[in-house]
Amino acid sequence: MTDTGSSKGAPKEEVAELARRRGYLGQAFEIYGAAAGFYDYGPLGAGLKRRVENQWRDFYMREGFYEIETTSVLPRSVFEASGHLESFTDPTVVCTRCKNFFRVAEDLDVGKRCPDCGGVLEAAGEINLMFQTRIGVPKAGSEEKTKSEAYLRPETAQGIFLNFQRLLRFNRDKLPFGIIQIGRAYRNEISPRQSLIRLREFTLAEVEVFVAPSDKNSHPEFETVADRQLRLVPASSNTNYELGIENYEDKSVGEAVRSGIIANEYLGYHIAKVDEFLEGLGITRAKLRFRQHRRDEMAHYATDCWDAEFLSDRYGWMEIVGVADRGDYDLKAHASSSNTDMSVRTEQGKIIPHVIEPSYGIDRIFYALLESAYYKEQVGKENRQVLKLKTELAPIKAAVFPLLNKAELKEKAREVFQNLRDASIFVEYDGSGSIGRRYRRQDEIGTPYCITIDYETLDDDAVTIRERDTMKQVRVPIAEVEKMLA
Ligand code: AMP
Repeated sequence: MTDTGSSKGAPKEEVAELARRRGYLGQAFEIYGAAAGFYDYGPLGAGLKRRVENQWRDFYMREGFYEIETTSVLPRSVFEASGHLESFTDPTVVCTRCKNFFRVAEDLDVGKRCPDCGGVLEAAGEINLMFQTRIGVPKAGSEEKTKSEAYLRPETAQGIFLNFQRLLRFNRDKLPFGIIQIGRAYRNEISPRQSLIRLREFTLAEVEVFVAPSDKNSHPEFETVADRQLRLVPASSNTNYELGIENYEDKSVGEAVRSGIIANEYLGYHIAKVDEFLEGLGITRAKLRFRQHRRDEMAHYATDCWDAEFLSDRYGWMEIVGVADRGDYDLKAHASSSNTDMSVRTEQGKIIPHVIEPSYGIDRIFYALLESAYYKEQVGKENRQVLKLKTELAPIKAAVFPLLNKAELKEKAREVFQNLRDASIFVEYDGSGSIGRRYRRQDEIGTPYCITIDYETLDDDAVTIRERDTMKQVRVPIAEVEKMLA
């Protein structure tokens, strides 16, 4: 099937504007002049992001995977071995007039003029994306200087590979096993122009599954995902973004593996799991697809890679998760560079495990989630903007209002509010403005319930609960509110 130019929809600024206005996101160090590629999460944004991360943890804990936490600063030797020092680069061009550098690829069509000043561009070679730093103060002498050289991690995965021997022992020397990690990654992107999604500091949530190469085609749980339908864009399809041609195939994971579109069951299983997780968060399924990398765009460590892409109203198709088959690349590289045995004894003999790696960019998922949840509708004469976040993700579960600005109502509302907070339900109190305006404000930030205390409450100990999506109101005894929200 073919669809043409679907990524060329009108740019939609409303979601980003709402996110800024309502404290989800803001530019980092803005008062000193912001730099592209750095964002801070405000009170609501941090609340939502944390919940996404916790759902992700729970999801992979259910797979039986353990979480570890490794350092962000690593010595040069690690990245020499992993190949990042040599290959974690982007091809660039430089403007002959204003001297600014630009990344070739999505940010810029080669051969075009400088987006800043219109000057002529010329090729400027490959530039490494890692942030360099130092460990301690180097002793005098050039060799010591190289020894102290270090880098901020561009992915969390290396920390897991470096721990492989300990992790294998923890797993009683048996394969397969999975390890997860959530943490910051740093990439000094060259002139990032897609403000919210091409960041220089961002959060990765990575899964490394270690499996014997001979077992890659027999995942014990494969049947549980085999019927999941996916939209797939194999590398062999003649999809061409520049020409606006996008070809895809709708297939079940089982069919895709059987017919060889997806190379093995382990890869297929984990692609299906990514799809299941994203759907569970509330990301619009019709806007998701899995696209296989062409040879020329694959990372230096990968033998195969499928990206989960989300069709953003603002950015077009964007990668939100990468699922790579890293083969034995990393363990072999570290084994030989560090002289460490990274092999495992199996019935077949001594082997180096292969790695299947789903790598989630939490910030892009966060943005895709906001776009998926956002809608606008006309209610009477007013416009209503809503973030239809799932209740378990909403940063604020409920807002408590006194209907009017009267002492006896405020006192009762405060009491209801405090009792819910004491029960660890995150609620907000809002006592000012018209009730309609208070509802709109909560709709915009995605609060699923509003609880209103009125004069009747003082007699019947019941409150009105209004539901965000339907705007329906029900009367509920105060004693039952906590149970209902929990
Ligand atoms: P990669 O290791 O390049 O496959 O990246 C894994 C995931 O990290 C991608 O699917 C993105 O969601 C996310 N990601 C990569 N680069 C950036 C960036 N500059 N800003 C935000 N997220 C990123």
